[in-house]
Amino acid sequence: MPPQDTVIKYFRLTPVQASALRRLGISTIEDLLRHFPARYDVAGSTATARTLTIGAKVTLFGTLSGLKAKKLWKSRRNATEGFFEDSSGRVKVMWFNQPYMASYVPEGNAVKVTGTVGGNAERPYIANPEVEIVSKEMITAGMFESPGHAEAKTEPMHYAVYPETAGVTSLWFRHAIDRVLKAGTAALVADPIPADVREHYHLPDIATALQYIHTPEKNAHAEAARKRFAFEEIFAIQTARAQERAENDSLSSFPIIETQEHVRKFLTTVPFPPTGAQERAIADIVGDFVRPHPMARLLEGDVGSGKTLVAAAAAYAVVSSRPPRRESGTLQVAYMAPTEILAGQHFQSFIEYFKDLPINIALITGSGCKKFPSKVSKEKATDISRAQLLKWVANGEIAMVIGTHALIQKSVVFQHLALAIVDEQHRFGTRQRRALAQKNSARERKGAENFALRNSPPTGGSNSPRSRFSAPLRSPASDGHENSAPHFLSMTATPIPRTLALTLYGDLDISVLDELPPGRAKITTKIVKAKDRAIAYDAVRAELKKGHQAYVICPRIEEPDPAKINALQAKSAKAEAKRLQKDIFPEYQIGLLHGAMTPSEKDAVMKDFSDNKIQLLVATSVVEVGINVPNATAIIIEGAERFGLAQLHQLRGRIMRSSHPPLCFLLPESTGEMSSKRLKALEKSDDGFKLAESDLEARGAGDLFGRRQWGMSDLGMEALKNIKLIRAARDEAVRAVSIDPLLSNNSALRERVAKARTELHGE
Ligand code: ADP
Ligand code: MG
Repeated sequence: MPPQDTVIKYFRLTPVQASALRRLGISTIEDLLRHFPARYDVAGSTATARTLTIGAKVTLFGTLSGLKAKKLWKSRRNATEGFFEDSSGRVKVMWFNQPYMASYVPEGNAVKVTGTVGGNAERPYIANPEVEIVSKEMITAGMFESPGHAEAKTEPMHYAVYPETAGVTSLWFRHAIDRVLKAGTAALVADPIPADVREHYHLPDIATALQYIHTPEKNAHAEAARKRFAFEEIFAIQTARAQERAENDSLSSFPIIETQEHVRKFLTTVPFPPTGAQERAIADIVGDFVRPHPMARLLEGDVGSGKTLVAAAAAYAVVSSRPPRRESGTLQVAYMAPTEILAGQHFQSFIEYFKDLPINIALITGSGCKKFPSKVSKEKATDISRAQLLKWVANGEIAMVIGTHALIQKSVVFQHLALAIVDEQHRFGTRQRRALAQKNSARERKGAENFALRNSPPTGGSNSPRSRFSAPLRSPASDGHENSAPHFLSMTATPIPRTLALTLYGDLDISVLDELPPGRAKITTKIVKAKDRAIAYDAVRAELKKGHQAYVICPRIEEPDPAKINALQAKSAKAEAKRLQKDIFPEYQIGLLHGAMTPSEKDAVMKDFSDNKIQLLVATSVVEVGINVPNATAIIIEGAERFGLAQLHQLRGRIMRSSHPPLCFLLPESTGEMSSKRLKALEKSDDGFKLAESDLEARGAGDLFGRRQWGMSDLGMEALKNIKLIRAARDEAVRAVSIDPLLSNNSALRERVAKARTELHGE
């Protein structure tokens, strides 16, 4: 069975099974081998039919027989009775009040039976056992008295339990994978981790690791294999990042000369002194500007930490510089935001910051274009046509363009784009983020051709837009900027734990704004039991009476599968908006915002909210985007335990924008100990980064930002708790790429990297 062959070539699949495997992304034999167990069952029975202790909970392996429904004459209760049998003997099994069990439980099959021993020493029985069909070999290999087996078993057998999906059981996977392993396929799978790296970190090779992870003989085997595959995943992602970084560093950037002094002067013109953190971030950026290759930097800063000012300072340095060998004009800046409202807000801020500079600033969104200053009034912005804007951007007359996705349309071409800024970058795909960085007229064409001609990798592993300008440097042509790429500044308010940032953004340098501007009112966060929700409503009403506004957040539906209980329980934002309008806040205007609305519908609602035409906004977590309505001072979060801590922190960030003390109410639906402990952390701390780190500690990254946001496997996510592993994988990835940038000598790694790229969301 060659690993690259399809599964259907060797396994007869029902249509249901085939589509289930497709859903799991399994098409080849290797894919099947890479479907790892979620956990292991210790197969060893805890007793045999002959060695039962009354009152003990036991697990037995054997078969069932003689099942029939009957009425217990004493209590008149319905019951099912029958016999369990293993090699040691047999014992009665009984299900009370479950007459249907007889038709439910398969007789004759190998089963695992778990239940409590009832009755007395003479006549024991197993009460209400759970029954699971298992494979025959589990019976023979379990801890039975079969001689010859017993002494070999220092540890109980571990049986892989696979993530199931409608149509394919764990048992099917166990059988199928067993067949593949027995056919010797594991030895044919190429190992993406170079041998020297494996040796250095004591990782098993792929054939051994596949055997270990599916059929461990002991715990240590499973652990070694899991560690190896976690390393492999992180290593693959880091290798992709290292390639991107190497590509970036092979480009030249526009020289930006007027920096330190100049930026310092600009900062004296803003109405407040920058925080220490803002100063450090600006210094990082200015430091990048004087290097010969483009900046690739991520600015992380909690909501309200003042990222816009940092962006403005960087933009200022850029528009104060002339294009190479020109007597007039300036370098250009593009600043992309995820919503029209945000873009509009940034446009306003930039006008404030730069109104005295002799430059033009423009706004481009789906609903129109604006330019500042207007010809007639030097103080105001004016509407312009799209065609005008495109022309002025292309000929360099407009120095700064702020916009939404509209900025990355093909028709938008810059003359000398030297800085691309992306705000709330997690809202854009990598493709979109990087498309912004290739908006200069000359390079867009040449870069693409060059790269395609010289290094198209067979698997499309390097197809990200930025990769496309990794054309080797060419000698300077007419005005010498054909191969210059803009500096790139990505900004996010999502607090990302260090290990996750190092992995996902391994190609970026990172600056952190870990300090809020002074004078912010402290937020009060309260957990309120569902039955006490009137407390929250009263507090919100008091805020609304003062003329303030508020949010009510309903849990988003993560799994669209209606069979999932989650979806059933999730409070619908729609229904909640209706109820609040009718029963609770009839005197106020209530608006609704959810993910199923179109962008322009969303923008319209947000506009009404920011104009205070709506006082109470009922929304799903879509409001997470850095929207700024300083008049909103209260937030109620329904089903709070469904959100990750970092996400809850983001949500309450919506009201941390004013000097009025904000109020946040968390209304959990269930009162599990674990979830209330987590929510208490929010009551105590308002540091987003600390919360993200502690969430990662407590729950693993899978739950951090809502499930599956990052497209990494559970194993990879688990590895994020291990900073040593992350560092090692990163070092090795950088080394591998520095030796062999295109991985021409390691096709297994090249393919693994391509796979990592497609699996990661947003690529
Ligand atoms: P975010 O990091 O969430 O994008 P913003 O850039 O929107 O934050 O800034 C939030 C608010 O803080 C804005 O009103 C801005 O004018 C203000 N601000 C930014 N920096 C400072 C500072 N150093 N001192 C005082 N206020 C500041
Ligand atoms: Mg912002």
